[in-house]
Amino acid sequence: MEQRHFAVLVVGAGASGLGAAIRLAQAGVGDLAVLEKAGALGGTWRDNTYPGCACDVPSALYSYSFAPNPEWTRAFAGQAEIRAYLQDTAERFGVTGKIRYGVEVTRAQWNPREARWELATSRGPYTARILVAGTGPWHEPLIPDLPGLADFPGEVFHSARWNHGYDLTGRRIAVVGTGASAVQFVPEIVPRAGRLHLFQRTAQWVLPKPDHPVPGAERFLLRRFPALRRALRSAEYGAMETLGFGFRHPWLLRQVQKIGLAHLRLAVRDPVLRRALTPDYTLGCKRLLMSNTYYRALTRSHVDVHPTAVRSVDGTRVIGADGSSAEVDAIIFGTGFHILDMPVSSCVFDGDGRSLDDHWKGSPQAYAGTSVAGFPNLYLLLGPSLGTGHTSAFMILEAQLRHTVAAVTRTLGTEGTALTVRPEVQAAFNAEVQAALPGTVYQAGGCSSYYTDVNGRNSFSWPFSTGRLRSRVGEFREADYEISPAAGLG
Ligand SMILES: Cc1cc2nc3c(=O)[nH]c(=O)nc-3n(C[C@H](O)[C@H](O)[C@H](O)COP(=O)(O)OP(=O)(O)OC[C@H]3O[C@@H](n4cnc5c(N)ncnc54)[C@H](O)[C@@H]3O)c2cc1C
Repeated sequence: MEQRHFAVLVVGAGASGLGAAIRLAQAGVGDLAVLEKAGALGGTWRDNTYPGCACDVPSALYSYSFAPNPEWTRAFAGQAEIRAYLQDTAERFGVTGKIRYGVEVTRAQWNPREARWELATSRGPYTARILVAGTGPWHEPLIPDLPGLADFPGEVFHSARWNHGYDLTGRRIAVVGTGASAVQFVPEIVPRAGRLHLFQRTAQWVLPKPDHPVPGAERFLLRRFPALRRALRSAEYGAMETLGFGFRHPWLLRQVQKIGLAHLRLAVRDPVLRRALTPDYTLGCKRLLMSNTYYRALTRSHVDVHPTAVRSVDGTRVIGADGSSAEVDAIIFGTGFHILDMPVSSCVFDGDGRSLDDHWKGSPQAYAGTSVAGFPNLYLLLGPSLGTGHTSAFMILEAQLRHTVAAVTRTLGTEGTALTVRPEVQAAFNAEVQAALPGTVYQAGGCSSYYTDVNGRNSFSWPFSTGRLRSRVGEFREADYEISPAAGLG
């Protein structure tokens, strides 16, 4: 009989879920499974296969500290390499056998009497004492609800679900959105497009990307001398941290903006286009972008930049809010993800049958971005209020994993125990975060971004240093939690 009850169930086999499985296994938690709805691991790096897809923090930093990779062939690795890294790491640390593919979790409900999570999945029920959600904030593509889109007769897809079967050669293409993905794929498809219309609601800050191939000799040295790997990681961490310091002291960013403006000036001679591409808010207010090819691609004669949001689609025409329009064969959305309205929050329920959504009412809140008052034995990876906008998700994740592993091993140490973060601890944590946000560029930078939720609250950003994130989030303090035996066992 297939095992259906586990000490720990991890949902999602992306960087977070795999990291959790590895760290928990290393801590001696063997009774564990990873439920993954897709047929392969990798999450973000499995789903995003658009041309030019790559990370935008240096690869030495965009990797697990416990699994350094001296083999990166570029300073900022591409999608295929990152995906292969996740696959290799999962194999090397022996967790691939823990993954159950094709299992979508549709509901998870805490049963207080049994002190366990009860899951409904596409492959039947599962139960577990502890639930770790690694379902990814950048997972569910966001396509704006445009009037007329459903009747568009041409090809439509989102960058995270790239249709490689559709040949873009010679086509008239509308690209909607100018975020991190669009900045990567637009330069790649411009040479093939017959005409490309870029609809840009907001001009972005785009800095030069210090990307380069890593020479074989450097890879050899990194392979040979672990101290060198550590030094590279520290140097990259320091560089990103300098930027982070600026994000907390926005007046300092004027100097960095000068680099962005010079980058734009060098690539774009046409003053009208340059004006359209010049941001009107402080750098860092939205996620920072880097590219050496984006601006130049937009100067090509068959590219039209429409500095406007899209209002609607009418037959084969995409219509901008400013009245401009474009006749196209295909629409590609680079419009991001459901980040603060993740689907998972509507299917995780507390002991009274209230979902995370019911608790949050549009403003996600957790303690240390990880545990949620009212939801015993639940840990969210890359949860609310931990986003930095400049550094690696792996750094945030690993701090959370230290916290989570300590909590899990404490819980499993005693039969029937449930750990629930104290509401007052969660409230104090969030009050501290919210009090510090107004001074940061995320809040003071004069933009609207996906960091802000439907209630106008920034539920995404961490306003302090990443050093503080690592110590604060990484620390598990038993006193922060109510420790209860199951009612039925107590
Ligand atoms: C194009 C792109 C580029 C990025 N670049 C960077 C970068 O340079 N630096 C950086 O720090 N971050 C970057 N990010 C953010 C990136 O998502 C994170 O760094 C990281 O990969 C997230 O990993 P995750 O495991 O938390 O989520 P994901 O990678 O999204 O994995 C979640 C997994 O959960 C599964 N899942 C979801 N719901 C269910 C369910 N109900 N049941 C079962 N399985 C489920 C999914 O199928 C998926 O495999 C990027 C994101 C995107 C989209």
